[in-house]
Amino acid sequence: MDGLNKSIYDIGSDTAFAILARSNELIKSGNKVINLGIGQPDFPTPNNIIEVAVKALKDGHHGYSSSNGILELREAVSQDFFNRNKVNVDPGDILITPGGKAVIFYTLLIFGQPGSEIIFPDPGFVAYKSMIDYTGATAVSLPHRMENNFSFDAQELLSLVNEKTRLIIFNSPANPTGGVVPKSEYIKLIKGLEKYPNVYILSDEIYSRILFDDNAHISLMSFPEIRDRVIVLDGWSKTYSMTGWRLGYGIFPKKIFNYAEKLAINCHSCVTTAVQLAGVEALKGTQEHVLKMIEEFNLRRNFLTENLNSIKNIKCIKPGGAFYVFPEIKKSNMSSKQISDHLLENMFLATVPGSAFGQNGEGFLRLSYASNMDNLKEAIECLKKFMNE
Ligand code: PLP
Repeated sequence: MDGLNKSIYDIGSDTAFAILARSNELIKSGNKVINLGIGQPDFPTPNNIIEVAVKALKDGHHGYSSSNGILELREAVSQDFFNRNKVNVDPGDILITPGGKAVIFYTLLIFGQPGSEIIFPDPGFVAYKSMIDYTGATAVSLPHRMENNFSFDAQELLSLVNEKTRLIIFNSPANPTGGVVPKSEYIKLIKGLEKYPNVYILSDEIYSRILFDDNAHISLMSFPEIRDRVIVLDGWSKTYSMTGWRLGYGIFPKKIFNYAEKLAINCHSCVTTAVQLAGVEALKGTQEHVLKMIEEFNLRRNFLTENLNSIKNIKCIKPGGAFYVFPEIKKSNMSSKQISDHLLENMFLATVPGSAFGQNGEGFLRLSYASNMDNLKEAIECLKKFMNE
């Protein structure tokens, strides 16, 4: 079809959603599919959160709320952010959004235009590059390699920055690799960015609570040197098993908050009020479920890495966070997409090919361990069989 915005023809999509749709088709036609494709916790939303939402609806919270989010929720986010990062955030700088993804969308609409450059993690969450491309900006790939535990090299990142760079996208713990950026790289990056006062950073901290071993979350906003040019993205989807509720937030520098809010008004108006009230309960109520979930994820992570490494031609590092492993899989003459397709169509195991996350993802598969231990055991048997074929 001719005559549409020329950027729309090539806009990227998220392979994980396509794989979810295909898995559901296979299930409908009577197959048992083990789904390690989609990035959402397999635990239900905690009951205390659900109850608040139900009550809110019954109490008549059915109308629009303010476009930036109800004050009670923004205050709860500010308090939670302080508790976890020791950084004071003005609730007026917080924009409540329908999921964290909206923060990526709005930020890229603010910064992206032809002639500007935006650095993104590769492999990385698919929406980053899709939206950079859509705005006409140049997407500059920052490799995240297995030999660096899927973090980046700050020197390499700084070598990509120039006078056209407008934004750097940062994601730790990361999707699809589970990689966590070590403090040493933060320090080098912040020092190096002093020379580039006009470069902003979008810090996607959606997995900030899901960390293992002695990894502690470091928010990019906790560095005063760059604080006035950091946008933080976080939300409820992963931490509280609320992916389908669509609730997230962005903390924007005062200089650009107004633009983000105007985009929100022009797009989603406001987030469902009952969902926002549930979000308050999630932050202020018991955190018992979160801790239990992380404990369970840790067991699964250990199980998977150990067992994947025992399979011929698979190499898997133990990731520091999120709920993904990203093993390197070598099978002669097969791309990661062919491997992933084969596993789904013939063995009913859903994974996501590493190449879906950028050119540096080729040769890898993303396995989400947001699935129970029995499924993980079956998945390992399946991979063993496939690799020995
Ligand atoms: N950022 C990353 C790195 C993600 O992996 C995801 C979801 O998979 C999101 C943002 C979006 O989260 P939400 O479901 O809250 O929009």
